[in-house]
Amino acid sequence: MFNLNINGMLPKNMEDRGKLILRDNLKEIEEILNHRTIPKNGLDDEKIKIFLKLLSLMDTDKDPKAIRIGEREGRISSKIQEELVSGFCHGVGRSGNLIDPQPKAPGASVMYKLTNNILKSFLKNLGLNVYSIATPVATGMSIALCLSAARKKYNSNVAIYPYAAHKSPIKAVSFAGLRMRLVETKLYEDAVKVDVGDIEDAIKKEIKSNNNPCVLSTLTFFPPRESDDIEEIAKICDEYNIPHIINGAYAIQNKFYINKLNKAFKYRVDAVVSSSDKNLLTPIGGGIVYSKNKEFLNEVSFCYPGRACATPIVTMLVSMLSLGLNKYLELMKKQKESRKLLNNLLKELAEKTNNKVLNIKNPISLGITVGSNPVEIAGKLYNLRITGPRGIMSSDKFGNCYLGNYPYNYVVMNAAIGVKNKDIIVAVERLKNVIS
Ligand SMILES: *Cc1c(COP(=O)(O)O)cnc(C)c1O
Repeated sequence: MFNLNINGMLPKNMEDRGKLILRDNLKEIEEILNHRTIPKNGLDDEKIKIFLKLLSLMDTDKDPKAIRIGEREGRISSKIQEELVSGFCHGVGRSGNLIDPQPKAPGASVMYKLTNNILKSFLKNLGLNVYSIATPVATGMSIALCLSAARKKYNSNVAIYPYAAHKSPIKAVSFAGLRMRLVETKLYEDAVKVDVGDIEDAIKKEIKSNNNPCVLSTLTFFPPRESDDIEEIAKICDEYNIPHIINGAYAIQNKFYINKLNKAFKYRVDAVVSSSDKNLLTPIGGGIVYSKNKEFLNEVSFCYPGRACATPIVTMLVSMLSLGLNKYLELMKKQKESRKLLNNLLKELAEKTNNKVLNIKNPISLGITVGSNPVEIAGKLYNLRITGPRGIMSSDKFGNCYLGNYPYNYVVMNAAIGVKNKDIIVAVERLKNVIS
């Protein structure tokens, strides 16, 4: 296709050597397109840039002979903008269906298709044998897309929501035009969670009133709220034949969640939503929706209104190409070790200060009780340039996900994928200075 004619310009042996080197350099890029799976070892940034450039040069806004008379021609006012979208000025998707090829953008369409293929192989390597789509919106909006798909495909009109106090999924329900039926949490020693029997009761009540419920369950959450029992919920949804969407915002980074997902996938799960930034180390803005049910994912794609900016998709592709599978597995291993370190340091601090580490099943986050105002402690930590801790008062019904009085004031800290051990050590040290 591309003929690099350097014939006769150099001694033959040099010419051959040059071509050999170039071929080997381009081979890694070729292999990506030949295999369409996540590479074991990451590519360097320079190669990824060349690859994206080559793809974007297939889009019609780069056509040197095109006559442009559409109202949308990928016109831009500055090269900065082209850089910001990695050359994909036409975005991705069609107004009819997000994952359909866009006639004005063959390059962006290949890029999107490839991202979804690589995502599938990435998830498969982590033990999740599912179909998946990269979405150009973050977790909350991706949940809204899934609920919208449930509404369209199954006439769902009410989302049964085991209470988890995060505003994004709650807003997603109203955004998708569904009513919400909260199922209250209960206290089990330190842990806050929802009784599966109560979820079943809520389903029965809605069905009895001639409604079409679906369930929005939560897999990943801050302590003291524990994961919903998604396997049992999936069984119930199977039994009553109702859609089940799982909010797994940061589920992809830890086997604890992946194992739970695989148990649930044996029963009714229409879609799981995870965040691209929380799991894949991308800037914020993308989502990952995955399922055993390819048709439902298609419905999710149908529900997206319009075309989308390519950037949230490109950032996922870049993460997977630059990390490669091995680096991601290494990061997962480090995350586990960091979580252990955080646990040990908080236990030590708790013993010294007459507090305790909350006994909550969570492979990422930990909560430590505090003797003084936890909101002030978190504020002081913020001023000490520590980001991330949550300080929650025992009386804060939203923060605790619990409508009764939680027994403790506490601070939550996280050892999520990508965290540095040094940051954990310094954060706990500074917590020690303000915990009093
Ligand atoms: C992060 C998170 C969200 C919000 O996600 P956005 O990507 O900001 O839309 C929703 N639910 C849970 C449990 C989260 O952790």
